[in-house]
Amino acid sequence: MEKILIVDDSALQAAQLKSLLEDEYDVTIAETAQDGLRHAKEGTFSLILLDIIMPGMDGFTLLKKLQEEIITQSVPVILITSLSDIQNEQQGLTLGAVDYITKPFHPLIVKARVNSQIKLYRYRKQVEYQSKTDQLTGIANRRQHDLCSMMRWNEASRLLTPFSVCMIDIDHFKIFNDTFGHPAGDKALAAVAKTISSYLQRSTDFLARYGGEEFVAILLGDSSGKAFRHLNKIRREVENLHIPHEPSISKWVTVSIGGVTVIPQSETSYASYLKIADTMLYNAKKQGRNRVVWADEV
Ligand code: GH3
Ligand code: MG
Ligand code: MG
Repeated sequence: MEKILIVDDSALQAAQLKSLLEDEYDVTIAETAQDGLRHAKEGTFSLILLDIIMPGMDGFTLLKKLQEEIITQSVPVILITSLSDIQNEQQGLTLGAVDYITKPFHPLIVKARVNSQIKLYRYRKQVEYQSKTDQLTGIANRRQHDLCSMMRWNEASRLLTPFSVCMIDIDHFKIFNDTFGHPAGDKALAAVAKTISSYLQRSTDFLARYGGEEFVAILLGDSSGKAFRHLNKIRREVENLHIPHEPSISKWVTVSIGGVTVIPQSETSYASYLKIADTMLYNAKKQGRNRVVWADEV
């Protein structure tokens, strides 16, 4: 059930709105703007109905604050007020409200407007999700990698914490496809991505599909040795999926991994370390595949 936040100092009006919407939505009421802001920052609401005139912080001020916070700025806000003059309506819309309802309101109109905003929000979220996600594997795509890798890099640089990046590539995958067919290849690819992803669940971890059967993983805070051991565990877990490969090549589907750990400095760049990881991957392939090669401390 989608969540709606009502911010209104009038308990009566808030209760009326709630009873109108609670059949279809999970409704929370905040009686002050401060309380509303606190709830909104939980980041779970799909729509906010906001009264303009409230004691203390008013609706316009709260609207501005919601627009400033990353977590709340994309949540649609409908202003509800008895002010019916054009100027307030214009101010609200200029500040970023998506709609404006004046009191006394007609229940069916409120419902219809809420429903249409929720629908739009859902659609926007879906498009946003799709633009970041690789369809086959459900993990981040290359575009999201380009964005998030820089964010992680800058974060590690600011905190002076170790940053590990590695490239993970499925071994002899062309032969796998040639042997079992492309659909089976797709399935194997998704299973490998799921396994890798299940071992990168810290909030600072990041995994993306970088190319066809190639992934990039980023870890923050681990020493070189620790990152290496973790990736070696991931490599083992992929092998332990026991996805049969062409027997003359190897018994199971496996991955090769090349990585490097560094404490980012201002004169170094993410791209140069990704390149080192790629070179380490190349070495892992050359040394016989199904192994992790980590660059020496840099
Ligand atoms: P290596 O061990 O050196 O990495 O050998 P490889 O065969 O895995 O490497 P190569 O780069 O020659 O081939 C990659 C193969 O991955 C070829 C391509 O058909 C397959 N592949 C890439 N993307 C997909 C995909 O989305 N689905 C399927 N089924 N196969 C894919
Ligand atoms: Mg490969
Ligand atoms: Mg490859």
